[in-house]
Amino acid sequence: LAQLFRPLDMLGMVYRTIRQGLIDMSAMFRLIDTQAEIADAPDARPLAVRGAELVFDDVRFAYDPEREILKGVSFRVPSGGTLAIVGPSGSGKSTIARLLFRFFDVSSGRILIDGQDIRTVTQSSLRAAIGIVPQDTVLFNDTIGYNIAYGREGADEAAVRAAAHGAAIGSFIESLPEGYASEVGERGLKLSGGEKQRVAIARTLLKNPPLLILDEATSALDSRTETEILDTLESIAATRTTITIAHRLSTIAGADQILVLDGGEVREIGTHEELLAKGGLYAEMWARQAVEQGETVDPA
Ligand code: ATP
Repeated sequence: LAQLFRPLDMLGMVYRTIRQGLIDMSAMFRLIDTQAEIADAPDARPLAVRGAELVFDDVRFAYDPEREILKGVSFRVPSGGTLAIVGPSGSGKSTIARLLFRFFDVSSGRILIDGQDIRTVTQSSLRAAIGIVPQDTVLFNDTIGYNIAYGREGADEAAVRAAAHGAAIGSFIESLPEGYASEVGERGLKLSGGEKQRVAIARTLLKNPPLLILDEATSALDSRTETEILDTLESIAATRTTITIAHRLSTIAGADQILVLDGGEVREIGTHEELLAKGGLYAEMWARQAVEQGETVDPA
């Protein structure tokens, strides 16, 4: 009988892994048009996380052999540090995040977390260490409590409540007649873009990963909501190693390092002030954005 159940157990495990994976990769990783081809190395060990220092060491990558997307990208984010990646559309920003999640393997070079090449560790331990707050959050047709608890299997009510408050959506939920039991989705409550993002933040708080990828929303939130969400994100990023994929410059001026990616190469890397002083691509992008927003260039 045990022999009969073992495959069923396996199936359950595979199902849970895929389900968790779907959530993590949703939106950002366009799962449907990509095949997962990555397997654990036979001697793969669990990732041992200390401070989650992240290193990209001369990383090259191509989706198609004839077109290289990353052409030798190197950077180091120390434990608890923040790196914002900016650059024109198609420069390879999201590709960096996909490689870190090991959705694909690098063609050459290495990605290290606390000194361990991510190809040598189990994918489940790697993905457990990384939280993603995507641009568009997928919600299930279920209760809002379930949608938050999704961040960590078996999370109890108190933990869900704490995460909701951490993401500044707790009071809103508790003001609903059915509270955490309120249905969301197709037939239930329709959440705004900002509220959905808060659900994603709450999930991430429950998962409590040492490494965070923030895919900044391009969709317009009203500026007050946006400021509030950025404040929340800043506070959860404060204790974690964080990579922000930035579509607007105004939100990332405070990052420890800003990496300017252009055509798959690191054009510049430094703080906001350093890059402005340099008068290169970042300074140009900053000036252009300021003009578009009808503001004067204010480096502060
Ligand atoms: P954006 O700011 O527009 O989101 P990005 O800098 O994040 O752009 P990436 O999504 O990393 O850019 O894409 C970099 C390049 O790789 C693009 O030219 C894109 O067309 C190509 N690319 C992305 N995903 C795939 C894929 N699955 N297969 C083939 N090419 C891809």
